[in-house]
Amino acid sequence: MSKLAHIQLTSMLNEYGLTAKAREFLDANQKMYIDGQFVDSISGTSMPVFEPCSGEQIAVVPAANTQDVDIAVNAAQRTFKAGEWHDMSPASRERLLHRLADLMQRDLQTIAEIESLDAGKAIEGCKAVDVQGSIDLLRYMAGWATKIEGTTKKVSVPGQHFSYTLREPVGVVAAIVPWNWPLNMGIWKLAAPLAAGCTLVLKPAQLTPLSMLYFAKLCAEAGMPPGVINIITGDGSDVGAYLVGHPAIQKVSFTGSTPVGQIVGKSAINNISHVTLELGGKSPMVALADASIDKVVQATLQSVFFNTGQVCSAGSRLYVHSSIYHATLKALSERLASLKVGATLDPTCDMGPTISVSHHRSVMRYIKLALDEGATLACGHQNFEQNNDRFIYPTVLADCHNGMTSVQEEIFGPVLCVIPFEHNDEALQWANDSIYALAASVFTENLSLALTFVNGLEAGTVWVNTHDLIDANTPFGGFKQSGIGKDLGHEQLDHYLETKSVWIEV
Ligand code: NAP
Ligand code: MG
Repeated sequence: MSKLAHIQLTSMLNEYGLTAKAREFLDANQKMYIDGQFVDSISGTSMPVFEPCSGEQIAVVPAANTQDVDIAVNAAQRTFKAGEWHDMSPASRERLLHRLADLMQRDLQTIAEIESLDAGKAIEGCKAVDVQGSIDLLRYMAGWATKIEGTTKKVSVPGQHFSYTLREPVGVVAAIVPWNWPLNMGIWKLAAPLAAGCTLVLKPAQLTPLSMLYFAKLCAEAGMPPGVINIITGDGSDVGAYLVGHPAIQKVSFTGSTPVGQIVGKSAINNISHVTLELGGKSPMVALADASIDKVVQATLQSVFFNTGQVCSAGSRLYVHSSIYHATLKALSERLASLKVGATLDPTCDMGPTISVSHHRSVMRYIKLALDEGATLACGHQNFEQNNDRFIYPTVLADCHNGMTSVQEEIFGPVLCVIPFEHNDEALQWANDSIYALAASVFTENLSLALTFVNGLEAGTVWVNTHDLIDANTPFGGFKQSGIGKDLGHEQLDHYLETKSVWIEV
């Protein structure tokens, strides 16, 4: 394995180029989007934004403070109360959301380049998954705007009564997103509330604010009414915390780590706000004796080795039956050695860098710790020099067990822990031995064994013979410390709609 070279931003841009729109956006002064206006922070302070391959600065964005949050929340609340969004005909709301999706489709390449540069994402995967997935979700939720309905009720109290329910938008939503899917999680957080008729204030992660600021320009171009979507940039522990605890917020939708989710959840409950928490994971993959090794390897490529393993639902613990253990390790090592790690704008790049030097250190620390705890390195390189301080080769840690820190904690990097087992019962028990329960998968051709695992695995999503497939129509969200509530699917809309019961004496 050769040493990964240091990448310079200018060389990467010269070699692969950018669309004129991406270049123009990155050269411009970045602004927040509040009440339909592009604005600086009240204090005039700003924060730098870095490109993860090189560590070089690519932009500066406003650093909001609590005054900016007040202005944004008041705009969202005023717009909500005026009914400018939820009293619009559902068909008009649907059309506007489709118009936004059309503009995203038109600018797909530009958005992907901005996202790739901001978040260190391999460009082709970013186009197909991050941007196209976001467009598809926006269209899916646009369709729901015209399909929100209540029910009629047959009641038994004496007299003649007509009773029915209305579904009404909850109000102003605070949305907070992480850095691993900045655009995708942003759209996950806003498509359903917009379809439901809510207004919102969204805060991207300070490491990756750019794609949502570009999206704000498309909101203005699409003709979204001012105040419906507000995007502020700033520090999470400061303005993020203030936003989720703001008394005018009726619903908090948070995606991020479990420790921050606990803080956010308490704050929402203090206000008696609705809350959705999409949190961390340490998802198991279980390969039974008859598993297709090809399918197991393919599944790791689309989860723990996609997006540099910075994937909440990554299958980062692989339990393999002892009869196929060595063959699986060999197949993994051979396939992973062919992955291209490096410059993210290169269309042949498979895997980019970690998001930051400090995150790189944290992932490397877990690798070293696992080796100290008895794991063996089946693939990858534990040497800082060889990986350089931003990139990490796909790493497979063999001979792990559930007592190891690296098997219990979320590493959030391209690191797979592999654990051999003898009996299916122990595999199921070990798979469930975690504080997390976001997702899981089982690999077998035996239908009854597959269903035993589907029923037994503690997880918000279970895949059979694959891992990490996501679709707008299928709800996603964790059990246990992986979260509360669902994103995606029509199930997500319920989190943005209040049910009002109506009685009429006739
Ligand atoms: P994080 O540190 O929890 O941050 C998430 C967001 O919360 C960021 O925008 C952050 O702002 C903000 N924040 C920080 N402190 C806050 C506070 N006290 N109040 C309100 N907001 C606050 O998570 P991350 O490191 O960005 O993302 C990685 C984590 O997200 C992993 O654990 C991953 O599993 C999880 N994740 C889960 C899902 C899912 O669907 N379950 C999806 C993707 C990611 P700043 O960063 O700007 O400070
Ligand atoms: Mg960045």
